[in-house]
Amino acid sequence: MAVPRNRTSNARKNSRRAHHAKKPQNVGKCKNCGGSCLPHKLCMHCGYYSGRQVIHAKKDEE
Ligand SMILES: [Zn+2]
Repeated sequence: MAVPRNRTSNARKNSRRAHHAKKPQNVGKCKNCGGSCLPHKLCMHCGYYSGRQVIHAKKDEE
């Protein structure tokens, strides 16, 4: 296994990690109720996914 000859400096380490910051999560709109929901996830407001009801939302059960 290759062993590094020199210690990586703090500046070189930090500049390498300058691109590692997390980007904000992409939030989409629900086609049924118009609320905000994550892509490829069912809507937690109305329980819809791809135009059909997958689960019953908590509001309907009461
Ligand atoms: Zn919805």
